[in-house]
Amino acid sequence: MMSTDGEIYAMVRGHARIKLEEGIAREPYLSARITEIAEENKDSDEVKALANKLSELFQKSVNLGKSAEITTVMKIISGQVEPVELVDSVASLLEIKQTEKQQLLENFSVKERLEKVIEFLNREVNVLDIERTISIKTQKRFEDQMRKAMLREKRRTIDEELGEEDGASSDDEIGDYKAKVKKAKMPKEVAKKARKEVKRLSQLSPHNPEGAYIRNYIDWLVEMPWSILSDNDVSIAKASKVLNRDHYGIEKAKERILEYLAVMKLKKGETKSQPTILCFIGPPGVGKTSIGKSIARSLGRKFVRVSLGGIRDEAEIRGHRRTYVGALPGRIIQGIKDAGTRNPVFMLDEIDKLGVDFRGDPSSALLEALDPEQNKEFSDHYLEVPFDLSEVVFIATGNILDTVPAPLRDRMEVIKFPGYTEEEKFHIAKVFLWPKQLGLHGLGGKKITIDDQAIREIISRYTREAGVRDLERNLATLCRKVARQVAEKKRHQSKIAASSIKKLLGPRKFSSLLAEKKDEVGMSTGLSVTPAGGEIIFIEVALMPGKGKLTLTGQLGDVMKESVKAAFTWSKAHWHVLGLKEEFAKGIDVHVHVPEGAVPKDGPSAGVAMATALISALT
Ligand code: ADP
Repeated sequence: MMSTDGEIYAMVRGHARIKLEEGIAREPYLSARITEIAEENKDSDEVKALANKLSELFQKSVNLGKSAEITTVMKIISGQVEPVELVDSVASLLEIKQTEKQQLLENFSVKERLEKVIEFLNREVNVLDIERTISIKTQKRFEDQMRKAMLREKRRTIDEELGEEDGASSDDEIGDYKAKVKKAKMPKEVAKKARKEVKRLSQLSPHNPEGAYIRNYIDWLVEMPWSILSDNDVSIAKASKVLNRDHYGIEKAKERILEYLAVMKLKKGETKSQPTILCFIGPPGVGKTSIGKSIARSLGRKFVRVSLGGIRDEAEIRGHRRTYVGALPGRIIQGIKDAGTRNPVFMLDEIDKLGVDFRGDPSSALLEALDPEQNKEFSDHYLEVPFDLSEVVFIATGNILDTVPAPLRDRMEVIKFPGYTEEEKFHIAKVFLWPKQLGLHGLGGKKITIDDQAIREIISRYTREAGVRDLERNLATLCRKVARQVAEKKRHQSKIAASSIKKLLGPRKFSSLLAEKKDEVGMSTGLSVTPAGGEIIFIEVALMPGKGKLTLTGQLGDVMKESVKAAFTWSKAHWHVLGLKEEFAKGIDVHVHVPEGAVPKDGPSAGVAMATALISALT
């Protein structure tokens, strides 16, 4: 056969397996005498079955993409060929090594050849199968992406056609924002930033999720009170009146506050308007918050309160950067926004419970907010633009001073609220808390009175505190009970007597210790300071035969133990003054006990009481 480019091809075709008997000639071509080898078992049932299987398998391989000449394929799958021809035809199409092909040629058993070929073809079918699934998957992914890209393009076209009418960043919305930016009277730089963000929003596709973040941000910018100020007239006389009207006692604190306001008035108009930050320290319920509110009222300013308790993260004060998901400004800026003015009275509660850890030191951020040198341009991470806090009156509060970070403490003017005596509590309850609670419970017009004795009963038997918070809570409970009677149209109590307290508030919660009326040998009464004010304590001394050992019980601290030891030594040294025998201590053991064993006690102040009890016992 001659091809178009002049090359010659020969077609060779196998007919049968032969055996070479004897060579005849080499020239002009090779010739020999041969005998044809008869195929064994070529018509057995097993061979036929194998042939059928091979035919099927071949068809499958062609379906999966095996390439072969169409005529060959037709012949093989027609089922019309003899097993011998079938197996050798398929063998010639296998993709196997030359040596493997040779082995197949040399095998005279049709059955074995069939088995071998089926095995090879099976392998090929498996590979083809895998290839096919891979390509199907790839194809599918590709089609998917194409489809999505198409849809996206379509959506864009639709949006364009609709003129983004129902898209979220419509012209209306953008116009709205522009107006809001104008109305917010921001400083120049801030307004520039706000306009830039509005522009960014207008260029964004309405479906871009970033739109929500930008909107949120612009909302914050336009809602901040950039130039909203309450009138700033400080009248000392008025302030004094408001403070006195709202609060009983605490004269010292009130005085310091008025002085502070006076300085503020004199320094008004100066660049650094806030001289120092006030810091109220005292136990709960002593009126720190309510004094703060009164200051705001007397200055005619808004009041906001933010608790700093447990804050460990600087970002809580100064905000998270906008790149953060769910980012918000810090508590200072949030507080200012709530206040709605740029010069509120801003109370920072629980400044003594501020924490420090790896997320930064919140107190340093707070310092920046409080420092009059820096707070004109307070920077919040979220807001990104500086906000002027210099007109804010900051008041910090806390229960104890020791845990307030030192740099903050230095910046503040501490005013202590020491707590109230029973007498003061009584007055506060009668004049302030009772009328207030009646009003709060809708009983203002009902003229319901409470006996003085009832108030005293509540103070001493139902509360144990330095402030008046529990007292107020108990009075509120009384009001609720009366309110219910009124609402149920029963006859209500118009006067609450001491005797009805138990019925209304339940059993007494505290009993107060009373000093013994009659003096006893080996016992003295001392005074102690507790978080709720003060208590009396008893010191009991017992002597017994022994060798001079001293035993102390009742959870005494080291200082207190030393006091007892000193008292014992003093008595031993002054035996003659006390009228005791010399070396009296050799025959006795001493046990000093301070009851209320579960409460730890310490401090040097009980020294005299201890010595008195001891000497009483010894003499
Ligand atoms: P704090 O902030 O110190 O924990 P609050 O200011 O919340 O205490 O006071 C608790 C309640 O007691 C408030 O209702 C407050 O009005 C009232 N109160 C505290 N001290 C006085 C006082 N000296 N005169 C009148 N009411 C007081």
